[in-house]
Amino acid sequence: KRGKSYVKDSLETINKLDEKLKAFITVNNKAKELPGKFSGVPIAVKDNIVTKGLRTTCASKILKEYIPPYDATVVKKLKQSGFTIIGKTNLDEFAMGTGTEYSAYQITRNPWDLSRVAGGSSGGSAAAVASGEVVAALGSDTGGSIRQPAAFCGVIGFKPTYGLVSRYGLVAFASSLDQIGPITKTVKDAAILMNVISGFDSNDSTTVDRKVEFTKYLDEDFSNVKVAFPKEVFDEGIEDGVAERFNEFVKFLEGKGIKVDKVDFPELKYSVATYYIIAPAEVSSNLSRFDGMRYGKRNEEEGLLETYLKSRTNNLGPEVIRRIMIGTFTLSAAYYDAYFEKAQKVRRLITNKIENLFDKYDFIITPTSPITAFKIGEIKDPLVYYLMDIFTIPANLAGIPAINIPFGFSNNLPVGMQIMGRKFDDPKVLGFANYIE
Ligand code: GLN
Repeated sequence: KRGKSYVKDSLETINKLDEKLKAFITVNNKAKELPGKFSGVPIAVKDNIVTKGLRTTCASKILKEYIPPYDATVVKKLKQSGFTIIGKTNLDEFAMGTGTEYSAYQITRNPWDLSRVAGGSSGGSAAAVASGEVVAALGSDTGGSIRQPAAFCGVIGFKPTYGLVSRYGLVAFASSLDQIGPITKTVKDAAILMNVISGFDSNDSTTVDRKVEFTKYLDEDFSNVKVAFPKEVFDEGIEDGVAERFNEFVKFLEGKGIKVDKVDFPELKYSVATYYIIAPAEVSSNLSRFDGMRYGKRNEEEGLLETYLKSRTNNLGPEVIRRIMIGTFTLSAAYYDAYFEKAQKVRRLITNKIENLFDKYDFIITPTSPITAFKIGEIKDPLVYYLMDIFTIPANLAGIPAINIPFGFSNNLPVGMQIMGRKFDDPKVLGFANYIE
């Protein structure tokens, strides 16, 4: 509602709920209203997006006391439109993970069942929206980190086409895959936020100069579209309840007169292996800046190399170190052809396959995650974690837009469906999601 401020309400709700939920790493208790179209609307921001004067930790010990001297482009745009940054949300350290269990500070709880994870890596943002602490939050998505926690928490999560939202001020994880996007209660809110945060930015050379109106198709009739789903979705360790909901989702679309075809997508099963070569390779390069010299914590030792080593080993967590090691290995001269170069080729094959499907179909659907929210501490093997990303990774590899929408429950936990669209068809993906919401 125009004219009313929700900043105080939101702070009160956070202070009441967050002791149990642990969605926030930092609450901006001094938050004030700003002038603008969205004055009085509070928004939460994932803590790997820098905020001027407000601590940004990436849920890592190495940035425990880091106060950025500038705002990320998305934050600047939000503030200019009147949004209030209400706080910084929890994540897996440097956004590497799928359950927000790899935060160096706390484990975010799923609002539907506090003994379970909220998903990840944007688990804090998803839990904050699902619990009503805020109506909207920003997340980042490298391999599913907006969509999967949105699915686990029963909210909307949208990953835009690569290049539509500036990554300036997003602490880089895997630069060729990272995108910032909204987590909200409604598709309409996600589209409105996209209008605010998107656009060309001279500070990010991968942004595209193209005017996109994300709210354009929100009232469109989508009953004439053609939709495909990979028949392989049922092969990939999918939970029974999720498979049942997915079948119902297909029937639901058909009930609206939409044509839904089952298609072959044999490349799907290579997406996890491809991603887990490419992403760590980019990590090993991007995270070299955290050396104890330029940012954050330093462990002073005799000599420069010793100082680097101690600062990094003492202040980066095990999953981050694992990825740096994998990336360093796959990029090394002796193994580059066998791993990194091959992964780049498979990325191209997967992208080509997706583009071919979009010659015939408007949208591709899958469940967002093969499973629902799992118990905190239940998963010990990183590989089990990695396999969960099977359905979300292809959109990052291909740079296409994808959204999670809630669709029913399995064992009383929310199930999410994913809709992927053609590159730059973001307004249509949002429109279609809104049409069936
Ligand atoms: N779960 C994936 C990973 O661990 C994706 C993370 C993300 O999108 N930031 O890398």
